[in-house]
Amino acid sequence: MSVLIFVDHTDGHIKKASHEALSYGAKIAEQTGDVTEAIVLGTVNEDLASLGEHGVKKVHHVQHDNLKQFDSQVYAKVIAEAAEKTGAKTIIFSNNSSGKSIAPRVAVRLKAGLVAAASALPETSNGFNVRKNVFSGKAFANVAINSDIKVISLNVNAFTILHGEGKAEVVAFNANVDAPKIKTIDTTKTSGKVTLTEADVVVSAGRGLKGPENWKMVEELAEHLGAALACSRPVADAHWRPHNEHVGQTGIAIAPNLYIAIGISGAIQHLAGVNRSKVIVVINKDSEAPFFKAADYGIVGDAFEIVPKLNDAVKKLKGIA
Ligand SMILES: Cc1cc2nc3c(=O)[nH]c(=O)nc-3n(C[C@H](O)[C@H](O)[C@H](O)COP(=O)(O)OP(=O)(O)OC[C@H]3O[C@@H](n4cnc5c(N)ncnc54)[C@H](O)[C@@H]3O)c2cc1C
Repeated sequence: MSVLIFVDHTDGHIKKASHEALSYGAKIAEQTGDVTEAIVLGTVNEDLASLGEHGVKKVHHVQHDNLKQFDSQVYAKVIAEAAEKTGAKTIIFSNNSSGKSIAPRVAVRLKAGLVAAASALPETSNGFNVRKNVFSGKAFANVAINSDIKVISLNVNAFTILHGEGKAEVVAFNANVDAPKIKTIDTTKTSGKVTLTEADVVVSAGRGLKGPENWKMVEELAEHLGAALACSRPVADAHWRPHNEHVGQTGIAIAPNLYIAIGISGAIQHLAGVNRSKVIVVINKDSEAPFFKAADYGIVGDAFEIVPKLNDAVKKLKGIA
């Protein structure tokens, strides 16, 4: 029996979230006495054997022209087939956009119980109970999976990446790969920027900045910190910033190690997308702003005075000034 982890990648690079899922899956295998295996679909520009450092013993690699374009239905069928043929008992995904669309489809195909957005290792001493976030991260639920086969999608940044020794065996897996039903006609890529969902540090700003012309200092701070940029919804709605930076309940949900919120009030819908951040720093001129209740560090003051000072301090620290 095995724990099978889906390895997600973009442009041939394995996502950080997948390294977390691999480490998580290896720990589950340790608990249940199973073998840790991984499945990779399509071409990856990294040494797959090195996934052994997370505890993976075998990597099943599926290569096929039909996998060049991501299609959750096609991917789900291949992963379900691999799970059946390799005797996988637990299948792990990241709860990122790919995982969210594939995991439920795999669960249906395998008649498996699914826990989405898991936040901790399962409790296996009495059944198989998985903790997950509910109510936009305001509470936890412990969910029991009673089916023989179990599917879990792990929240991004919820599990520390484990590094050990060892190389995985990489084997080709021949699957029946359908042609995608959806054809991508055009793709527009942002380049040279830190991907928001993968970023360790995110610098975010809201309506307190008054207008798009004032984002230069925010961009500068993000650049110095190697951070991704984000914004509140009204800012994206007003076209001050692009919608792919909008975080929150109706935007992207993120969980960086550091989230810096500048001139954002901290409405519940905004917090829903950022409250899993490890450390939250809030800069707001209103000491009563609700965001301070969720903050680890707060600066009460005018962003137009504080952010330039922060930029100077970071530059000094990095020896740029
Ligand atoms: C169904 C629904 C879904 C929603 N989804 C989202 C979502 O996904 N994401 C999201 O962000 N919002 C969402 N919203 C909107 C949300 O309710 C808030 O209206 C929004 O988050 C407020 O954005 P803001 O904090 O940038 O602006 P404001 O509420 O206007 O707050 C601006 C803040 O800046 C501070 N400020 C002003 N000037 C300065 C200065 N010079 N220096 C420092 N601070 C200053 C003010 O004190 C204030 O706290 C949603 C709303 C609904 C109804």
